[in-house]
Amino acid sequence: MTFAIHGLAVSRGIAIGRAVVVASSRMEVRHYFIQPEQVASEIDRARTARDAVVVELTRLLESMPADAPGEVAALLEVHLMLLQDEVMENGVKQWITERLYNAEWALTTQLEVISRHFDEMEDDYLRERKSDMEQVVERILRHMRGVASPVSADACVAKTRRESDAQEVLSDDMVDAPLVLVAQDLSPADMLQFKRSVFEGFVTAVGGKTSHTAIVARSMDIPAVVGARAASQLVRQDDWVVIDGDAGIVIVDPSPILLEEYQFRRRQMRLERERLTRLRHTPAHTLDGQKIELLANIEQPEDAPTALKAGAMGVGLFRSEFLFMGRSGKLPGEEEQYQAYRAALEGMQGMPLTIRTIDVGADKPLEGKINPSLNPALGLRAIRWSLAEPVMFRTQLRAILRAAAHGKVNLLFPMVAHLSEVEQTLAQVRLAQSELDARGMVHGPVALGAMIEVPAAALMVRSFLRYFDFVSIGTNDLIQYTLAIDRADEAVADLYDPWHPAVLQLVAQVIREANAAGKGVCVCGEMAGDVAFTKLLLGLGLRSFSMHPAQILSVKQEVLRADTRKLQEWAQAVLAADDPAAVLKSIP
Ligand code: PEP
Ligand code: MG
Repeated sequence: MTFAIHGLAVSRGIAIGRAVVVASSRMEVRHYFIQPEQVASEIDRARTARDAVVVELTRLLESMPADAPGEVAALLEVHLMLLQDEVMENGVKQWITERLYNAEWALTTQLEVISRHFDEMEDDYLRERKSDMEQVVERILRHMRGVASPVSADACVAKTRRESDAQEVLSDDMVDAPLVLVAQDLSPADMLQFKRSVFEGFVTAVGGKTSHTAIVARSMDIPAVVGARAASQLVRQDDWVVIDGDAGIVIVDPSPILLEEYQFRRRQMRLERERLTRLRHTPAHTLDGQKIELLANIEQPEDAPTALKAGAMGVGLFRSEFLFMGRSGKLPGEEEQYQAYRAALEGMQGMPLTIRTIDVGADKPLEGKINPSLNPALGLRAIRWSLAEPVMFRTQLRAILRAAAHGKVNLLFPMVAHLSEVEQTLAQVRLAQSELDARGMVHGPVALGAMIEVPAAALMVRSFLRYFDFVSIGTNDLIQYTLAIDRADEAVADLYDPWHPAVLQLVAQVIREANAAGKGVCVCGEMAGDVAFTKLLLGLGLRSFSMHPAQILSVKQEVLRADTRKLQEWAQAVLAADDPAAVLKSIP
């Protein structure tokens, strides 16, 4: 039966595919397709790991001291029984044989299926066996982590095969059906894993519009809906699902008519995208000849080719924290970071690269490194954490300064709010430079910039500008902190309003002050990639925008149609309005 689940539209486009439902934070398990000839060895890999756990638990049981509490032995026996459960074993075999899932994926998928059965049980005792099953699977997975997968490539072969086979008409052939992921939540670290996975879109039950999970989805240009609260309970493994990333709707088990309509829309969108690609080499000039800088936001050096392909003139925001995530808290050292920054720089082929120093905390936790604050968005995050960890901070600074010897690098600091933080930060930069000098290591010059993403910084931007070469407005956090709305909380997502007059006034003030001081100013929050804001920002005097590569051509189209002379007066009227969105209608 067809039904719809409403969530938040966070990443454009339409994905149609079979649902893969994963429990929260199970994304760390690798998802790839094996080749048909690997089925037997993959089943064997799952079985070997399972057998090893059976041996491990049996030994544990046998070596248990006589005075050990009886419950422990009973629990171990339950685990041993579950390990050899036929439904589990047969299910895993089936996912591998029929879908060509790798063994870990097959195990977690089957765990989901069984968990649902447990959830539906009336008997409390049996219902509680679900967590035992989870522990058992976790043990098997742990075992498998220590054993190399026989599939060396990251399933890229299989992924390419699927992409090239992407069908317009849905087929019942399960092996070739596109897949979409349905999860309770995906952390930013999970999203990195997602980049290498086979899914064509995702739905999460939690998350806000500018949560980092949503941001990464936009950067990958895949359809996504977050905050679809009931999704992970209502969608079942293998359901056909349509993700409408524009409307923020998930349609489960769509009727043939609906399906046809979505397929039509998907074709239209692809055509529109193809049309936009013609603008790739067109210079971004307004009708009155103003040159506009359109830059890319990236998360990893590997994103540089996508940025170039989209026609970016450089990187306005490299969110360096993604280099630190998904590594179980083991931070990358100076050399590894240097190589990564250098790779990004070289990937941009001589164009400028703005590297933001690590911005962890809030919804970007760093495993084992940051104690959860009572209120993480207001806690030890971004520059606060870097200043609290000067050794780590200078390691990063040295790596960036060394990379700067190979091209134009701008160094950007997140979330500065106090002038004392500015002074301490700049002192750390000088110290890092002298450490490199003492080691006789080559380093290059960098332009220094501050993110303006806390209202305090926006209000005193004139003072900040005395210390920095440029500022970059982080509207995602600026909105969060101005309106006191957690950007990651779907419960208050309707109040997260980029059109709020207070937000617009702060943005306008920063642009005005930076222009007056003759310093660079860019917007690198999500507002920069939203075409609804392009003309307003141009009218307010902004000439540099940094956004996901996927948004660059749409924004360029707006720029090409804009005349900044006509926009100035209108932009002031928008600023003065109690309801700026209403004045928008009179856009020149
Ligand atoms: C912002 O806050 O607008 C920004 C660009 O930084 P992030 O989204 O990474 O917090
Ligand atoms: Mg920010």
